[in-house]
Amino acid sequence: MGERNVMKEVIVNRTAAGRVTRFFPWVYENELVGVPRDVGSGEVVRVSSPSGGFLGVGYINPTSTIAVRVLSFMKRPIDQEFFREKIAKAWQSRAFLRETTNAFRVLHSEADGLPGLVADYYDGFLSLQVNTAGMERLRKEILTAFVDVVKPVGIYERSDAGARDKEGLGSAEGVLYGEIPEELTVEEGGVFFKVRLRESQKTGFYLDQRRNRRIVASYVDTGWRVLDVFSNTGGFGLYAASKGAGPVTLVDQSAVALKTARENVILNGMNNVDFVRADAFDYLAREAKQGKRYDLVVLDPPSFTKTKGAKGGALKGYRRLVLNGLRILGPEGYLAVFSCSHHISLDDIGCVCLNAAADTDCRLEVLEHLFQDIDHPYTLNVPQSLYLKGLLIKKTLP
Ligand code: SAH
Repeated sequence: MGERNVMKEVIVNRTAAGRVTRFFPWVYENELVGVPRDVGSGEVVRVSSPSGGFLGVGYINPTSTIAVRVLSFMKRPIDQEFFREKIAKAWQSRAFLRETTNAFRVLHSEADGLPGLVADYYDGFLSLQVNTAGMERLRKEILTAFVDVVKPVGIYERSDAGARDKEGLGSAEGVLYGEIPEELTVEEGGVFFKVRLRESQKTGFYLDQRRNRRIVASYVDTGWRVLDVFSNTGGFGLYAASKGAGPVTLVDQSAVALKTARENVILNGMNNVDFVRADAFDYLAREAKQGKRYDLVVLDPPSFTKTKGAKGGALKGYRRLVLNGLRILGPEGYLAVFSCSHHISLDDIGCVCLNAAADTDCRLEVLEHLFQDIDHPYTLNVPQSLYLKGLLIKKTLP
């Protein structure tokens, strides 16, 4: 309890105070009104309103745009027990997922009450991201808590270099605990995927699309021609192939991702899948020009915009993708289109599709609204925690 006495106090303006009172955990740099001169980057502080009222306990990084991230809205020390409680709660809330898969996100930053920290579970191993100066300082507590609660065989750090850069931290990657094998095998809905924590993108595998892969695959029929664009290691395409679709074509610009995709096809005993290493925009334009036809096209691009300002450009990019996607759909074909940027809404995606449809003379029927899977929780109090959205659309002729 002594900790609370020595904790420095940061005063935030009224706007920020109002938001924090409603459990929004961020205070922006221009909302700070009183910061002790000697406060360290990432230091745990008491967050107070202009009148001195207690708002929360958080960590500060005065050089980051998001200057304070609140860890607790109650007066309590940020210690070993704090992390153990939060991680145990997150771990238990995902217990049901272990009946159907051996890979899921264990901890999703703000949405699980631990801003700046992300952890994925892969068949007994953890992939960890320590993305802020505040969490960097609390590394020891974090590691001990994960080892206590999850009892992993090994923990690999795969922190987000972009996020750390904004926090004034260098990149961080490597084995933190135990041993990490060269490759792991993930099972999702009866389909197997290899994951290499050392060389894969992000923390290993795009776990957030698990539910959407299942939903999209539930529409797939034997013999469907499927084009999985931005396929990475084959998520959507392999689910479709497991439903009897084929030929299935996976398109990605990453040779590493396609190498794993190739191994995944063998692992699942499939023989109707091919691979194209190409830029998705060019490839779709070429396919459209050549008059190719598919029964299902999946468009799952990376985030085109990390900021509100870049949204216009991102939507233009989407329009090109969707337009060519619709052109290569056969009559009654299906299009699954996603965005993983918080700034692009489901309505934005719908508008892009509608505009593109006007140029292709077809009607579009929305079959499914798609979101990030449940292990990437969406907290209404933190609008930014909703990032992945998508539509499954059927092309119908007028
Ligand atoms: N659908 C995948 C996840 C896609 S992640 C799954 O279910 O697992 C986005 C992918 O887009 C990454 O694999 C990345 O390598 C690829 N990518 C990014 N820009 C690209 C481009 N211009 N052309 C083709 N692929 C691209």
